[in-house]
Amino acid sequence: MTSPASTLPPVDLTARLADRARRMNASAIREILKVTQQPDVISFAGGLPAPELFPLEDVRRATETVLSKYGPAALQYSTTEGHLPLREWIAARDGISPANVQIVTGSQQGLDLLGKILINEGDVVLVEAPTYLGALQSFQPYGPRYVELPTDEHGIDTGALEDVLKAHPAKLLYAIPNFQNPTGRTLSLERRRRLLELTAQYGVLVIEDDPYGKLRFTGEELPSLYALGLEMVGGDPNRSHVIYSSSFSKTLVPGLRDAWVQAARPIIEKLVQAKQGADLHTPTLNQMIVAELVGDVLPRQVEIVKKAYGERAQDMMARLREHFPAGVDFTTPEGGMFLWVTVPEGIDTVPLLAQAVERKVAFVPGSPFYALGGGHNTMRLSYSSATPEQIDRGIRALGETIRAAME
Ligand code: PMP
Repeated sequence: MTSPASTLPPVDLTARLADRARRMNASAIREILKVTQQPDVISFAGGLPAPELFPLEDVRRATETVLSKYGPAALQYSTTEGHLPLREWIAARDGISPANVQIVTGSQQGLDLLGKILINEGDVVLVEAPTYLGALQSFQPYGPRYVELPTDEHGIDTGALEDVLKAHPAKLLYAIPNFQNPTGRTLSLERRRRLLELTAQYGVLVIEDDPYGKLRFTGEELPSLYALGLEMVGGDPNRSHVIYSSSFSKTLVPGLRDAWVQAARPIIEKLVQAKQGADLHTPTLNQMIVAELVGDVLPRQVEIVKKAYGERAQDMMARLREHFPAGVDFTTPEGGMFLWVTVPEGIDTVPLLAQAVERKVAFVPGSPFYALGGGHNTMRLSYSSATPEQIDRGIRALGETIRAAME
């Protein structure tokens, strides 16, 4: 016997999706990058922290310590704001109160929640061209209108920023001042100050995304926008127009998903509410483990990671100079995990990737990192988890691929 329901037409599921869901799009590069996961392909695409540097034994020991020290509380629900000792440690870095710190489940969650509490449909959000693809994905469902800010080797062009601010009533500026993903570039000190003055003058909030700041392997450390912003308001975190986001993903391990946002109370209060609705709290055990490690393991780990990435970056740049044809430019990162390559106009790096994969090497094409499209002749290379042998063979093969495309 057939049930009456089986004679009814199926519900049109896609028609039932929210407008918000319609604004989400499958990441174009995720599809392209599937081919790069074949074991014989050398991939500079991934952008993963180096797993061989993870402090496995320290995490094992910290887990045992936490379970003994806190007992069942380590496995219980906990507060939305986050584990207090961890928030205290974070707050002390900038001399602010733990009340200005919200723990989040990866800074990716921080970006999503910030989008949720700040972006109305049609709000102008200023982003670097290019910018972090994951931020675009987080903000996109909330319906922002992106305006791109031109960048050069010193980061955002603040002259152009002023013109943009005059022309558009912007709500928010999202920036990655240190060793940007995807370009590896760093915003100069002069421009940091100018960016803060201009955004304060025009009433624009700044989200400073800084997962790589501690991973500087060369050059002078620069103050964060957040720290400079605090100076501007006499050190009062509740008057700052800068929202700071950082993470333990790149300095410690990404899999614990421990990160944070620091901001003025009106922002934090809304973040707490948004996070309650999202996941109640970041896993208790993970936060306690990280709090156990920040004292001595984290600083040691930062030194280890910086040294390794510095060597890998130097190595990759030397091979780029050796194997890439004239007319190809690349950035010189002072920290972080990425560098950015610009090939001659007219070469599109999306089809180039297919040709590179035939030669057993992969990269990420640059165009998806542009909120409004463009950048077809650019690519991102990650050196963080490559061996010298892979760098040599991979860059040589990539040079050959580019040379063939130029002919
Ligand atoms: N922001 C930027 C600029 C990133 O590069 C990343 C990681 N690729 C993130 C945020 C997200 O990091 P997580 O969620 O692991 O903290």
